[in-house]
Formats: sequence, C-alpha cells, structure tokens
Amino acid sequence: MAEFDLIGRLARAIPGQGPGVELGIGDDAAILSPAPGQRLVVATDTLNENIHFLPDVHAADLGHKALAVNLSDLAAMGAEPRWVLMNLTLPGADEAWLDDFAEGFAALALSHGVSLVGGDTCQGPLSVTVTVLGNLPASGGLQRDGARAGDLVLVSGNLGDAALALNRRRADKPVEPHLAAAMDRPVPRLELGQGVLRLASACIDLSDGLLADLGHVARASGLGAVLDTGALPGSTALQGLPRNQRWNLQLCGGDDYELCFTVPPERRDEALSLGETHSLPLAVVGHMTEGEDVVCKGPDGAPFQPRALGWEHFRGTGLPDD
Ligand code: ADP
Ligand code: MG
Repeated sequence: MAEFDLIGRLARAIPGQGPGVELGIGDDAAILSPAPGQRLVVATDTLNENIHFLPDVHAADLGHKALAVNLSDLAAMGAEPRWVLMNLTLPGADEAWLDDFAEGFAALALSHGVSLVGGDTCQGPLSVTVTVLGNLPASGGLQRDGARAGDLVLVSGNLGDAALALNRRRADKPVEPHLAAAMDRPVPRLELGQGVLRLASACIDLSDGLLADLGHVARASGLGAVLDTGALPGSTALQGLPRNQRWNLQLCGGDDYELCFTVPPERRDEALSLGETHSLPLAVVGHMTEGEDVVCKGPDGAPFQPRALGWEHFRGTGLPDD
C-alpha cells in the first residue's frame, strides 16, 4: 500500500464531511466555514513512541488517544470541536494496523461530530500529530490566567489511574481493565468543559499531573495554591495503595485528561451540581492563594512533599515508581 492508497483508506474510514466543511481531504488545503458569531479555537498535540505510548500499543487505542488528548485541550477551553487534521508518520504501510488505528480514531470523531479534513502522511518512526479546530462563543472562555485568590480548585473524575497502569505495565505486572482503560482510552471532558464555561475563572486539562498543571494555572494567574491530598479522588485500585504512593501518583502522574478548574467559593454548589448534570464526579481538592507556590497538605494539615513535579520533556522525572 503506497501513500495515496493509505490516505484514501484513512479518508474512507474516518468521517470527513460534517458541518462547515466546504472542501475536505483531497486538495492542497481544506476550506472550512466557521459558525457565525463563533471564534475559531485551535490546538495540536503529538504522540511519540516510547514517550507518549509503549511500543506494543494497540493501533485502535493509539487512534483513540491521539484524538482524545487533542479534544481534551478543547474541553479545557470550553470549546466545541468541529474539524481535525492528522499528521501520521509510519514505519511501514500495514493495512490491518491502519484499519485498527482508523477505527479507534473514527469512533471518537463520530461520537463528537468531528470531521477529518486533512493532514500529512510520511514514512519514519511511528508518530501521530493531531490538530483540532472548533468553535468558541464570541465572548467568555476558560483560560489559565483567570483564577483569583480564594477560588476553589475542582477536578473531574479520578486521578492517578493512568499513571498506575503505566507503572504496572513497565514492571510487567497485571493491569486491571479500568486502569488500562484510563491509560489507553481517556475520555475528553467536552460537555463538562462547555458547562464549566459559565462558571469557572480558569481551567486546564490534566496531562502532566495535577501538581504541574495546577502550577500552570497558578503561574498564569499570578497566584499560589494549596492542595488537600485527602480530597484527591481515586479509584478503588488507588485507594488500596499506601497513601504516599497514592498521592504521588495522583499529584505527579500524567495522562489523567480530567479537567481542573477554579471557581469563586460562592459558586461551589453550582459547580458541584455540574457533576450531576454530566454524571461525572467532581471534587474540591484545594484553593488558590496569594503567593506563588503550589503546596500540598495531608488530611491532618501537615505539609506533604510530593516526590516529583510532573512530566516535562527534556527533563523527564514525571512518574514516581510503583
Ligand atoms: P500535498 O502534497 O499537497 O501536501 P498530500 O499528498 O500530502 O498533499 O495530501 C493529499 C491530501 O490528503 C491532502 O488533502 C491532505 O490534507 C490529505 N491527507 C494526507 N495525509 C492525511 C492524513 N493522515 N489524514 C487526513 N488527510 C490526509
Ligand atoms: Mg502533504
């Protein structure tokens, strides 16, 4: 299968003709019409072998995740995704692999009404770069720089499952299905992001670990924060771990793809009720402070010093050991 057969195969498998697509795959560029009165929002993210996924990753999981991590960025902006481009670098043209990859990608694209409108296909070490475009209302938005001192910090879902799955896989230990799903099939919190748009002062999606990502919100907002380790939401697998190990995974482990957002304290109940609306648990895990440090406290109020800061390329050190 050569380059153009491969592109054709992808284009047939993944929906490409949704709203706003005037010209899709096949020409030198796509032509899109943004919805009237909406701003265009764009994000891109790359997944590289051994950095973002293990070499034995299932193709369908990789297809899902390459799109999911990008949709998660739009979720954190409160945006509605519309269009996507995919830059695919493959070591070879394996039809079965490509079909599985396209299936994982297509299922998620379809469930959010996202159209594949272009991309690029090259030969080389396995790498996927996805670019998503979407709509954002003309005013308002969820940026990192809007938090105020005293605002509560909320997170969706559970934290630390994907990091625990990665540790177990690296150690050749068995991985429970719900942990594997957290690592392989993250669910972009798009509906929550759009719901939070009316309420939150700042928002970020959790890709590098809560400590590092809340640190980005704190820095952008010129603030510090206190995190309450006893309030970090965890699955039963996490709750069964010794507490320091659990907190390290939840604070420093990457790949959660949950939303972390800040709300004024008087909007606490309204914010928590969004969890019921979206059938997604929300937890208050801390608050923003004057100053510039993000610090962690245990349930007894004593400071807790995490083992690492979070994932950063060229520095590593993201993940604490199992
Ligand atoms: P060009 O040489 O003009 O850059 P290409 O040959 O790279 O064009 O691509 C041909 C068409 O196929 C373009 O419309 C491009 O957007 C699309 N395309 C290429 N690779 C992908 C891909 N991985 N996913 C979606 N569309 C793709
Ligand atoms: Mg090209």
